[in-house]
Amino acid sequence: MFEKVVIANRGEIALRILRACRELGIKTVAVHSSADRDLKHVRLADESVCIGPADSTHSYLNVPALISAAEVTDAVAIHPGYGFLSENADFAERVEESGFTFIGPKPETIRIMGDKISAIETMKASGVPCVPGSDGPLGDNHDEILEMARKIGFPVIIKAAGGGGGRGMRVVNSDATLLHSIALTKVEAGNFFGNDVVYMEKFLENPRHIEFQILADSHGNAIHLGERDCSMQRRHQKVIEEAPAPGISDELRQKIGKICADACIKTDYRGVGTFEFLYENGEFYFIEMNTRLQVEHPVTEMITGIDLVKEQLLVAAGKKLSYTQEDISFNGHAIECRINAEDPDSFMPCPGKITNCHAPGGLGVRVDSHIYSGYSVPPYYDSMIGKLICHANDRETALVRMAGALDELVIDGIKTNKDLHSRLVRDAAFMAGSTSIHYLEKKLGLS
Ligand code: ADP
Repeated sequence: MFEKVVIANRGEIALRILRACRELGIKTVAVHSSADRDLKHVRLADESVCIGPADSTHSYLNVPALISAAEVTDAVAIHPGYGFLSENADFAERVEESGFTFIGPKPETIRIMGDKISAIETMKASGVPCVPGSDGPLGDNHDEILEMARKIGFPVIIKAAGGGGGRGMRVVNSDATLLHSIALTKVEAGNFFGNDVVYMEKFLENPRHIEFQILADSHGNAIHLGERDCSMQRRHQKVIEEAPAPGISDELRQKIGKICADACIKTDYRGVGTFEFLYENGEFYFIEMNTRLQVEHPVTEMITGIDLVKEQLLVAAGKKLSYTQEDISFNGHAIECRINAEDPDSFMPCPGKITNCHAPGGLGVRVDSHIYSGYSVPPYYDSMIGKLICHANDRETALVRMAGALDELVIDGIKTNKDLHSRLVRDAAFMAGSTSIHYLEKKLGLS
């Protein structure tokens, strides 16, 4: 097993990784910006290194500083967490070239999955169901493009191959605006992502976002750990996630899960990964793969009893998977609320000092968070300050438990989205289950 691991991230996920390392007897190195000296995991880590100023470009995204931190502390591996450099193939390559283990898939896998067109091509060839579309970049032949859009059927969506974070997408309803929309999306994609390649997909009008968790080792084994429903979104950002997805039969779960696990074996995938699908009228349509740990991984852990971060560390160290597909069973229901430091009306980030903080507790209540009374949320990073996860034997009880846990949660001194969550877990349509990706924005009057 690794002796010492650098945790190249911050906040709750850095703490989550530290906890997994501790259980495996791995020493930890916390790397942090000068604004993050008071982070909980920095205090708990065996060693810590300040890698740069508050601005993440010069700290958490500073590749030479991260590699040097591993060198000076004699660490052997780097865990990237999520966000920052976690899906950066060049970083993974630099880590490996410098003689460390990158805790994630091989750099070439990250590169393929980072380009949505090559990801779709790869998955299609492996038998994963995809959204009907252009099956490749859009060229210059206008007649061909118009013909293709008519064949797919309006509305269609134009998407940037290098897109991410919900940007670089445009929905087109008719012939009249198609070519202009493609031109606009190309310009935007070039500006945002340095890659102006775009492709076309059928626009699904009322889908749910359902994703499958997979786990693969470097010995040709891969299993799936079921699905999560992450349809409760605002501006393509997930707000609440749950597992299992309401209304998905075990037969369909096993079928799609097996397709995903088989695709991992075919593509020589290593580590944890997520297949994101849109789900509409009983059909799954692959949209992209995330080659890292997800924010919402705890809901899968709660219903399977498997520590995904420990498994990720074990397979990165070259161990075989600890489980076969037959070992995996799903117990009860888990829901996660992302707690953000934000203004409840404008949704603008709301950093500042937490004067008082009390976490809820009790059977089936889990809090993954780095905050504490007296902690100051810095203005420089993502506004998520923690995750509240509730598990129960059934969905109804998990929702009631979450409502109670939210009532118990105290975060004073800053504004948070706690009250929004309290309303949502008592919302009749959400309680009934199976709401679409547009539900939250419609409820908030944003669309
Ligand atoms: P990103 O990498 O930016 O998150 P995705 O490809 O995962 O981009 O898409 C983000 C979101 O955009 C989806 O969760 C969904 O809400 C919407 N979306 C993407 N493709 C389609 C599609 N073909 N039809 C309908 N909505 C889509």
